[in-house]
Amino acid sequence: MSENKNEILLFAEITKEKFIHTVFFELAQKSAELARKLGDCKVSAILFTEPNKLEDYKDGFLKSGIDKVYVYESEKFENYDTEHYSKLAIELIREIQPQIVLIGATNEGRDLAPRISSALHTGLTADCTDLDINEKGQLAATRPTFGGKLMATILCKTLPQMATVRPKVFPSLKEDILKNTEFILKTPDFSEFKPKTELLEFVKTLENELNELDSAEIIVAGGKGAGSEAGFEVLREFAKTINGTIGATRGAVDMGIAPKCIQIGQTGKTVRPKVYIACGISGAIQHLVGMQDSEKIIAINTDENAPIFEIADFGIVGDMFKILPELTELLKKN
Ligand SMILES: Cc1cc2nc3c(=O)[nH]c(=O)nc-3n(C[C@H](O)[C@H](O)[C@H](O)COP(=O)(O)OP(=O)(O)OC[C@H]3O[C@@H](n4cnc5c(N)ncnc54)[C@H](O)[C@@H]3O)c2cc1C
Repeated sequence: MSENKNEILLFAEITKEKFIHTVFFELAQKSAELARKLGDCKVSAILFTEPNKLEDYKDGFLKSGIDKVYVYESEKFENYDTEHYSKLAIELIREIQPQIVLIGATNEGRDLAPRISSALHTGLTADCTDLDINEKGQLAATRPTFGGKLMATILCKTLPQMATVRPKVFPSLKEDILKNTEFILKTPDFSEFKPKTELLEFVKTLENELNELDSAEIIVAGGKGAGSEAGFEVLREFAKTINGTIGATRGAVDMGIAPKCIQIGQTGKTVRPKVYIACGISGAIQHLVGMQDSEKIIAINTDENAPIFEIADFGIVGDMFKILPELTELLKKN
């Protein structure tokens, strides 16, 4: 492995709502720590944006502690596009030769990262829950394996060492890290490029809507106690009233009453909302690891001995089908 230790490159994903995805700030914070361990290492980002939009994002980068941003502007970047993004990312990586490339394990990141790693013939540890630098200066990327029964720490023998990282496993920036960030404008060249696919239209599906868990401030999560799909409708109605997003346990997903894309926990998503309302959830450790860093946890459960009450800030012992409709009515009135 080469001794090039001087750059960690992050993918700065822009959301459909035209914000820098929160996972970028989480990766920026973690990368600052990794860079310190590596010594003499810069942290940079690659950004794809429509022309004249950089100003909208500059402030975020200036406060994120990033040393450099490589900016590619094109009309083609209105929507995420695997082929155009990966072509330019691969070219940039070949040019700057970063030691580490980190990408958020979002829908886009999970699509982009393997394209890049396979083109560069390098390893990719997907869906990581922790990152570190080992005593040999290698990226030590940890992720659950065997359905969550084991945590594996994986090293990559080739450069760059690549990983995708689940949103919310690292805390976001608590305070701004002001840096004199350098913005390097790059000119995308698609003159000889013949993409195999063309995006005609972006259609928002139920799955996209449900997948707002990453950035949700309030999550109303249901477990097996919700009992049925109709039970989940009660949760959805309550969530709508308080501007929340719904989540579920694996128990509920396995019962077929909630979609897999909203599963929270060891083999699902990790979330850190301001408020997490757990309804009909017992509090198994595999669920807790995905939500225990929520700022406030409220639990509703018929069983006063349910383990969820041990980590809840507020607990209500009772039937969620009595409590939630009453709360929904009360909130609607007010
Ligand atoms: C390798 C592995 C990985 C796993 N990964 C995950 C994961 O990512 N996420 C995850 O969630 N789980 C995961 N699990 C499963 C986990 O161990 C639990 O089985 C699961 O979280 C339990 O789901 P639950 O709380 O919905 O169900 P239960 O444990 O059955 O709890 C249901 C609760 O609902 C309460 N209840 C019933 N009726 C009502 C009512 N009307 N009102 C209020 N409360 C009511 C009951 O008192 C009970 O406490 C994993 C397990 C393994 C082995």
